[in-house]
Amino acid sequence: GRCVVAVDGPSGSGKSTVSRRLAVGIGARYLDTGAMYRAMTWAVLRSGVDPADAESVAKVAGEADLRIGTDPQGYGVTVDGTSVDAEIRGPEVTAAVSAVAAVAAVRALLVARQRDMIANAGRIVVEGRDIGSVVAPDADLKVYLTASEAARAARRSAEDATDVAATAADLARRDRLDSTRKADPLQQSADAVVLDTTELGIDEVVDRLRDLLVE
Ligand code: C5P
Repeated sequence: GRCVVAVDGPSGSGKSTVSRRLAVGIGARYLDTGAMYRAMTWAVLRSGVDPADAESVAKVAGEADLRIGTDPQGYGVTVDGTSVDAEIRGPEVTAAVSAVAAVAAVRALLVARQRDMIANAGRIVVEGRDIGSVVAPDADLKVYLTASEAARAARRSAEDATDVAATAADLARRDRLDSTRKADPLQQSADAVVLDTTELGIDEVVDRLRDLLVE
């Protein structure tokens, strides 16, 4: 039957790994909404538009043909037919994504796309910053993953081989921008299950979520 799991939290909280593994385990689709904001940011940078220029950013986003797969074992992201899987993880996109994601018109566009994909999926695990609060407030299970700043920075720098101190500074900067922006800021839904993953292994978190789904 239909089942929507919303997984929100800051980066480095374990969201992506946990969400993908949970989706595989329960035979669900998987949607990485952060990849959508990153792909729009790639389109903005490609066009030469200033990410702080909301009007121009909205125009680029409205014209970009963004496609994203929902296979948890390997989804591709394309913009106007160009595969951007590697580029959207690069430092240029990471530095500009919070500014692009703060543009209300960009959010309206992507939230509508995300709701369509969820409606068509049946069973799906959706990860992001505003899934439980804005995109899918009627989700069957809402989870908010957290972890200490040190643990998050250590995980991120292990993933992308950057310096821990630089990663910690970048995470703090993005957290601040993401939780203080006017449109759909990162926030814990009152009805989300909060899990601190600092001391938990991935498998423990996934098992915990599977138990919650059965209850
Ligand atoms: O999860 P990830 O680090 O890939 O997200 C990149 C950025 O996209 C976040 O820092 C945030 O600015 C934005 N984002 C968002 N809403 C979502 C998912 C991501 O604003 N649902």
